[in-house]
Amino acid sequence: MNCLACTAPLISAAQLCDACTRGLDVRLAELPGQYLLLAEHLRPGAARGDGPVALVREAPLPVREDVLAMRAAGGMVTVLESWREAMQDARGWGQPARTGTIERRIIAAARGLQLNLEFIAAEFVGAGDLAQEIRALAGQVNALLDPAPPTLSVGECAADLGGGDICGAPLRVPAGTTTVRCRRCGTNYPPSSWLTLATGTWAPAGAAA
Ligand SMILES: [Zn+2]
Ligand SMILES: [Zn+2]
Repeated sequence: MNCLACTAPLISAAQLCDACTRGLDVRLAELPGQYLLLAEHLRPGAARGDGPVALVREAPLPVREDVLAMRAAGGMVTVLESWREAMQDARGWGQPARTGTIERRIIAAARGLQLNLEFIAAEFVGAGDLAQEIRALAGQVNALLDPAPPTLSVGECAADLGGGDICGAPLRVPAGTTTVRCRRCGTNYPPSSWLTLATGTWAPAGAAA
């Protein structure tokens, strides 16, 4: 039997390996706070500290549509609530309530999934898709929160965060430098490694495509 999220072989009968379970746990814990942080990234350049906000208060402010979509119904809240609903359904429980502000709903849905992580990892047949979707969601959120100006992209961080949980944060070459450092986990990538990163052929031992 193999992990449904990363295909690593499992020692005992389960849906997810320990690394994917831990990664899911961490991401579910981080997402509500990241949702709040996204509010500060609604205006282009806001996170870069381009100047006092008061000076431009009178002008119509442009809004980052990608950040708006992530914070609105259909974004992060819908991914989390849909999975919580599917999980509760699999346990034979009723539908969870979807009440309150989007912020409250995100906290409730992420918490509901975290509290049932043991069941998810052991028995939930959708666990592989759940882990992969939450990993992709966290990746998108991290990219939105990344205040670095658009520079040369060299792919995704291939660092193993422990037991096969791959970091996956977007990597960029900052203007005027030849040092690529993952903003999430701190791994350094020398220029000689950029091509393998960019082409996705970086292959950490035992990893699946
Ligand atoms: Zn796994
Ligand atoms: Zn990384």
